[in-house]
Amino acid sequence: MRFFAIGFGQAGGKILDLFVENEKLRGSDTLKAIAINTARTDLMGLRHIPPKNRILIGQTTVKGHGVGTDNKLGAKIAQEEIDTVLNAIDELGTHEIDAFLIISGLGGGTGSGGSPVLAKYLSEMYSEPVYAVGVLPAPKEGKLYSLNAARSMVTLMRYVDNLILVDNGAWRFEGLSLKESYAKINEEIVRRLAVLARAGEPVEEGMVGEMVVDSSEVINTLKGGGISSIGYATLPIAEKKKSGLFGFIKKKSTPVVTAEEDKSTKIATLVRKAALGRLTIPCNIGSAERALVLVAGPPEQLDRKGLEKAKLWLEEQISGVEVRAGDYPTRRTRYIAALVVLANVTEIPRVKQLQKLASEAKEEVEIAEKERIDKTIALFEEEDLEPLF
Ligand code: GDP
Repeated sequence: MRFFAIGFGQAGGKILDLFVENEKLRGSDTLKAIAINTARTDLMGLRHIPPKNRILIGQTTVKGHGVGTDNKLGAKIAQEEIDTVLNAIDELGTHEIDAFLIISGLGGGTGSGGSPVLAKYLSEMYSEPVYAVGVLPAPKEGKLYSLNAARSMVTLMRYVDNLILVDNGAWRFEGLSLKESYAKINEEIVRRLAVLARAGEPVEEGMVGEMVVDSSEVINTLKGGGISSIGYATLPIAEKKKSGLFGFIKKKSTPVVTAEEDKSTKIATLVRKAALGRLTIPCNIGSAERALVLVAGPPEQLDRKGLEKAKLWLEEQISGVEVRAGDYPTRRTRYIAALVVLANVTEIPRVKQLQKLASEAKEEVEIAEKERIDKTIALFEEEDLEPLF
């Protein structure tokens, strides 16, 4: 799956930077990446996206200092400088890509406001699907962040083919500061995107997959404009036993795959673990319309029967019947990784919460506005003025 990824704002840029690093490390050069921001320092902090692919917008308005949490200003700047952004995308080249991927934090200003604007133009100008990875703020970040996220999400959903949500609030890491947690969450996001990016990629020399999934199957899973949540689980592969003097001493046991164990059960269990474990956004998996399973690992660990078992199980879990499954053999890992994309999920408690917050906030604004108008009218009434006509 060849992505043209755009990291919009601080969170988006950081996540994309890590994605680029990850792809380089695994020897893939298909990812195209551009970071866009109104804050110069955020762009300067990136390490793997080349400087020529970092676009600073809004220089005349905010002079490189960012828009804070003003996502309306973020959207305005994106709209005014959309040509700069689109030209940068065009220059890097879009002819060999399968999809666009806009990554951003939805609770802030630049990414929250700019992503929907970019999604609108990309969806109008290109035939390739446009996906977004949207990071929702944790509730404790406050009402303003949640409100920003709600507004951004509602607008984004009009233009993207799919919105993959990640909930910062669902990813707490004990004992870590917020910044350290972000780094961990970003790693988790990139792990998932990296597996998705392998769909349809040519496999390493001399290897064949048991059941190949190509990019069109990812596209068919994500079509329709809904929200997706992604699950992921890994299993370390048993190291070959070293016969040595102390070989008989039992090591602390870790769940590993050995040749004797039933491969297909292992794969099916791993997929189940991915679907029922921590999702990028907690949701009722029974409300998913479609699903995609991708398993990556050394070829001798992959198993067609296991995948088929997993597929049948998932078909029973989700509301729809479309489950696609495939694998990707690779030697560049000591793990088997299972990815489960739950597409078009509708029961997402955090999204319900955001919708409620947004409508409350709208009411608050309307009430405040009405009170202000009433007070102004009252001022004039006190003066006993004649109306104009
Ligand atoms: P922008 O630069 O104006 O687009 O704002 P940010 O990207 O900083 O967006 C703010 C939101 O993103 C807040 O809800 C933060 O919780 C979240 N955020 C900021 N940085 C990160 C990050 O590196 N990782 C994650 N997962 N979330 C982040």
